[in-house]
Amino acid sequence: MVFGKSLFWKAAVVAGMCSCAAAAHAQQYDMILAGGHVFDPKNHVDGTRDIAVKDGLIAEVADHIDPKEAVKTIDVKDYWVTPGLIDLHVHVYRSPNELRSYAGVLSVFPDGFTFRTGVTTVVDAGSSGWRNFEDFKANVIDISKTRVLADLNIVGAGMRGAKYEDNLDDMDGEATAKMALKYPGVIVGIKSAHFTGPEWKPYEQAVKAGTIANIPVMIDYGARRIERPLYGLLSEKLRPGDIYTHTYSGLRGEQDSQTGGPSKAMLVGRQRGIYFDVGTGGGSFSWSVAVPLMKDGFTPDSISTDLHIDSMNSGTKDMLNNADKFLAMGQTIPQVLTEMTWNPAREIKQTQLGNLSVGAPADIAVLSVEHGHYGFVDMYNTKKTGTEKLICQLTVRAGKVVWDLNGISSDDWDQAPTSDPRLAKRWTSFTERPFGSSRARAPFNGPIK
Ligand SMILES: [Zn+2]
Repeated sequence: MVFGKSLFWKAAVVAGMCSCAAAAHAQQYDMILAGGHVFDPKNHVDGTRDIAVKDGLIAEVADHIDPKEAVKTIDVKDYWVTPGLIDLHVHVYRSPNELRSYAGVLSVFPDGFTFRTGVTTVVDAGSSGWRNFEDFKANVIDISKTRVLADLNIVGAGMRGAKYEDNLDDMDGEATAKMALKYPGVIVGIKSAHFTGPEWKPYEQAVKAGTIANIPVMIDYGARRIERPLYGLLSEKLRPGDIYTHTYSGLRGEQDSQTGGPSKAMLVGRQRGIYFDVGTGGGSFSWSVAVPLMKDGFTPDSISTDLHIDSMNSGTKDMLNNADKFLAMGQTIPQVLTEMTWNPAREIKQTQLGNLSVGAPADIAVLSVEHGHYGFVDMYNTKKTGTEKLICQLTVRAGKVVWDLNGISSDDWDQAPTSDPRLAKRWTSFTERPFGSSRARAPFNGPIK
């Protein structure tokens, strides 16, 4: 009888021939990530540690954890190990029903774009409003492996184009807050975006909703209007803890025309405790703004993408490419990691996320750094070169490996397994398939007529 290699080794495990630790005793942990450079800003951890995971949660962080205590041990030496990244600004209300709409085909489905860059949590920034949030929840949030949170658009109809987004009659702070209060921990903010009128109403209603629901407001400040200057928004209208996105676009008075540095509005906003988010998007990040603002010390609180079908193929690309841009402007790896983990968790008041405390969700990103010559592109299709590039090697979401670029969690195909395949479900979401099986055979229920 001829066995395929993998089938042979599985048979060997069942027969008790496996040399792996599994046979010896019941392990208390599902997985250990061993020997990585752990960076966890909340807990001030910045050095070599082992991390043990159990039942989807962080179980132990220590200098050394015995590999015998886990079903699976993955060697992550030479890699950065950090809380799963949080992208505060994406558009993932992917529904087939609408053209030219972020509550439709301009959004992307999250799982295809998140784990490959170490992102485990995204916040949809206002693609839905109170009228269509529950449709978004049923069709995207509830069926994604990515943790999808949402800012509710102050426009009840959500981000469906100018006809809806300029409709002052559909901006109801109370109705918006009511929906937010129905889903605490899922709706984590209120969004205003793309408004072109001269009125303050969208921002006042957004703050009203945010105040009732006790969640922050995120502002995309729409068209620049002299009737509502940026200074008024940041010095008066927004509350400390609210979030200003598209910080480096330069389109609404972010840059001082004399000095090239941050405008007085930005400085007063920061002084008041307003958070500044990146959200590069399709047209919201300019090197001619970012470089001088960064030189003056106006760094972002959070790095985010404004991911949608256009930005992902333009200068933005993805979360790590945006982090690389800030490395190219002189930030350090710990700084950009903080701006993608603990900082965004605090901005949305979800402090159970963005850290590796014992008991926290086991959402983990394992990153390597490549050195070379790279070009990073802005909204005007100009580039700045840099020498560092972050690569996501492994992503763990809720204790399961969901992305593994180079198979660092895999065994060699022609060697004995290092962990008991029967216990694979405890550490990986990858499906075990017996040698020679195919998807086509699985659903076959009877003779084809
Ligand atoms: Zn956006």
